[in-house]
Amino acid sequence: MPVETKTTCPYCGVGCGVIATVNDDGIVSIRGDQDHPANFGRLCSKGSALAETIDLEGRILHPEINGKRATWDEALDLVASRFSDTIAEHGPDSVAFYVSGQLLTEDYYLANKLMKGFIGSANIDTNSRLCMSSSVAGHRRAFGADTVPGTYEDMELADLVILTGSNLAWCHPVLYQRLAAAKAARPEMKVVVIDPRRTMSADIADMHLAIRPDGDVALFTGLLAHLSGSPAVDHAFVEDHTVGFDAAMQAATEHSLPDIAEATGLTIAELIPFYELFERTEKTVTCYSQGVNQSQSGTDKVNAIINCHLATGRIGRPGMGPFSLTGQPNAMGGREVGGLANMLAAHMAIESAGDRDRVQRFWASPAIAEKPGLKAVDMFRAVADGRIKALWIMATNPVVSMPDAGAVEAAIKACPFVVVSDVMAKTDTARHAHVLLPSLGWGEKDGTVTNSERRISRQRGFLDTPGEAKADWWQMAEVGRRMGFGAAFAFRHASEIFAEHAALSGFENLGSRDFDISGVDPKVYDGMAPLQWPRPQAGDAGTTRFFEDGRFYHADGKARFIVTALPEVDRTSADYPLTLNTGRIRDQWHTMTRTGKSARLTAHIAEPFAELHPRDAQALGIESADLVELESPHGKVLLRALISERQARGSVFAPMHWNDQFASLARIDMVVAPVTDPYSGQPASKNTGVRARRFEAK
Ligand code: SF4
Repeated sequence: MPVETKTTCPYCGVGCGVIATVNDDGIVSIRGDQDHPANFGRLCSKGSALAETIDLEGRILHPEINGKRATWDEALDLVASRFSDTIAEHGPDSVAFYVSGQLLTEDYYLANKLMKGFIGSANIDTNSRLCMSSSVAGHRRAFGADTVPGTYEDMELADLVILTGSNLAWCHPVLYQRLAAAKAARPEMKVVVIDPRRTMSADIADMHLAIRPDGDVALFTGLLAHLSGSPAVDHAFVEDHTVGFDAAMQAATEHSLPDIAEATGLTIAELIPFYELFERTEKTVTCYSQGVNQSQSGTDKVNAIINCHLATGRIGRPGMGPFSLTGQPNAMGGREVGGLANMLAAHMAIESAGDRDRVQRFWASPAIAEKPGLKAVDMFRAVADGRIKALWIMATNPVVSMPDAGAVEAAIKACPFVVVSDVMAKTDTARHAHVLLPSLGWGEKDGTVTNSERRISRQRGFLDTPGEAKADWWQMAEVGRRMGFGAAFAFRHASEIFAEHAALSGFENLGSRDFDISGVDPKVYDGMAPLQWPRPQAGDAGTTRFFEDGRFYHADGKARFIVTALPEVDRTSADYPLTLNTGRIRDQWHTMTRTGKSARLTAHIAEPFAELHPRDAQALGIESADLVELESPHGKVLLRALISERQARGSVFAPMHWNDQFASLARIDMVVAPVTDPYSGQPASKNTGVRARRFEAK
């Protein structure tokens, strides 16, 4: 008899429900789960090809030490002793974990507990730093907590959906399908796409604003100024529920419309219709993703957007609100458990002595991190200069995905002790590991993930364990025990970790905070249906929207307007005259370690490419399908030329996915500058000055 398992897609932050069927012949088939509220049965190309990526080719099947097969005991003892010795000699801040939005919440919880509560350092950061940390920082500044106010349904209920810095069609395809279906059913719904490129998402747009890179702060500051004196401003809401409106409005109105036009690269004739559309459309949702977050002004962009929603009171009600789209399947879950270097578990603040004390007492831990740890870019700088001497990398491939990837690779190679837990044996990062630990992959492991709308869903195993692979949480629990932390890591099943995580979220009246799932009965873990947090009471259905009562999480219950200065945005120079923008393509995921296995997915776009405007290409003597060398002060790559009117003049787009396994000299992050947002630490992956030339073999 075929056996069906309900689980969740491991790719993007939409978090689609999947039904995996193991048929009588052992072949796995995949279909969308009609009952899952994220996708109602839909899947995109990546989700529907999941069965093509679960073979064992290339997997790590047993632990290795220095490239040689080892037992689990040998490997775990070595990891524990090297971490303990390094801490004893150099202090807790001499070690670090670099983890991933691919981890399940239970894995993430334990990594955070081990590092912050028992090692006593906050040097745990995540590839989610590259994904949505500017949204986290923006939420905390505006709302007093990292809270996503709305839900996917709001996009369908809205009369205006603004997609800014989001190629929803390729990066969150099922959400795009939902939006396109809603627009087809209600032609009066308007969609505005704000993006330097005319992406596939613009195909359903009523308006495409080809903004200059990083012009978003100016665009939304101009929108706030446009609202000055408008009846669209909800003065009662502003008065009762916010602080700082006058200062933000005064700062916004100091910029003239021509200045805003100059800063955005748009004409006044383009700006005014957009501003008027926003002004007259109460039910507006503004969705933003990496084009907003991955920027040196990412946090200010988020707050410039939120300012406009606060001014109009368009938040917390059906069909309206700012909405951050997370890139990864569990970027949100990592935030819940404090998987970022500057957060504590259960959305508590590492800067708060009361929160630190509360978490330490709950864990009965010997230590608690006293200050924020190193964020991703700074963490690898600390590896490079020798401050970090032992590094554990879990479920991610920073040698491909970090900016200035060549420097990151050199740092990892030089680090005295590197542990990598992964499913694939030969990632660009895994080959530098002293200890390589085989992890369970999708379809093998058990736990929970949280999608962009705060919906917690189960991932469930339905495949046999390959070789000696083990869950990531098990690996950390074993190392924790071997480091002498005993009972605090005596977990036998992911459900026990979830139960502890849920209990911490409601510990000592944390129910008054935004994140609380203490009402989830751990006994229902196996059969747990998707739910939206918070869920403080047993049996309730979870919370669809925040702030319906106008109450925010700052101490006075009010939201904050943030004054945002217009940033410097031009990173080009005479030597590097083009702006490089990196991003995803439709059918690949991250560094292709899984999607690269599917011939069907690879057929969509088979080679890494550099997309150029025809006039730039002509000026450079580059023709379609030529090889192009892209170069910045940090490195160079070799890509196939794709010449397209969709690309803005003066810029070049390249996908983030390719690595040395699939094409040599195609790691685009070799070129990307390691500059970061000052509040979030998120790298600015969409604005690096580069030069391009036609490559000719000598
Ligand atoms: Fe998976 Fe995202 Fe596609 Fe849904 S939209 S099937 S979560 S990749």
